[in-house]
Amino acid sequence: MRRKLAAGNWKMNGTRAALLELQAVISAHADPSVNILICPPATLLREAAILAEGSAISIGGQDCHAEVSGAHTGDISAAMLADAGASHVILGHSERRENHEESSDLVRAKARAAHAANLIAVICMGESLAEREAANTLDIIAGQLASSIPDATNAGNTVIAYEPIWAIGTGLTPTVEQIDEVHDFIRQSLIARFGPEIGDGIPLLYGGSVKPGNAAEIFATDNVDGALVGGASLKQSDFSPIINALE
Ligand code: 13P
Repeated sequence: MRRKLAAGNWKMNGTRAALLELQAVISAHADPSVNILICPPATLLREAAILAEGSAISIGGQDCHAEVSGAHTGDISAAMLADAGASHVILGHSERRENHEESSDLVRAKARAAHAANLIAVICMGESLAEREAANTLDIIAGQLASSIPDATNAGNTVIAYEPIWAIGTGLTPTVEQIDEVHDFIRQSLIARFGPEIGDGIPLLYGGSVKPGNAAEIFATDNVDGALVGGASLKQSDFSPIINALE
C-alpha cells in the first residue's frame, strides 16, 4: 500500500517570517495519516528542519547539484541538504528545466546524487501546452521517464510528480480523465521497467493549481497518491484543507 504524500513547494517565496506558517502546519497536523512535506527556500531549510524535528512534517530542498562538492558557486549538494535536515529534494521541476536549461540526463544525475545522500528524490515531469495540443503528452512523459529516472530507483527512494507546465500557477487544471490517463501511463511504464513490486510502490503526485476547492476531486483519481502544491502551500489555511482532503 503506497503511503500518501501532501508536498508543498514554496519555490522562491518566504523569509523567516514564513516559518510561522510551517509552525502552524506542524501544530494543525500532529498525527496525520498521510506524509506531509514542505520544501522551503534553501535559506530557511535548516531553521525549518529544527522546527519540524519530532513532528510529522518532513522538510525538503528544491534542487541539488549532481556532484558531492567542488567549485560550483551558488550550488548546493545533496549531502548538504541532508546535513541541514532535509529528507527529500525536488528535482527536474519545469521551472528549473526551463529557467536553468536542465535536461532529463542532468535530472537523472541529480537523482543519483540525492539517492547517494539518502534523500528521497521527488522527480517532476510534465508537458507544455503546445505539446498537449499536439497530442504529444504521453510521448513527452515517456521520454522524461526514460531519461530522468535512475536505474537504482526503488519504492522508498523516489516519488514522481506529474506537473503539466500549463497548469502551474495558472488556475487551469487537467480534467480528472486527463490526470488519470497520464498517471496510469506512468504507473504502467514504471511496472514495465522496474517490475510490479517497485513499479507499483512508487508514489505518484499530481501538481499544478491544486487548491482546497479541487483537491478532493483530484485525490479521488486512481493512481494519484497526493499532490505537489505551489501557491496553496504558502499559507497553512490553504494547505491544511488539501492535506485533510488526502486523509
Ligand atoms: P501551483 O500549485 O502554484 O500551480 O504550483 C505547482 C508547482 O509547480 C509545484 O511544484
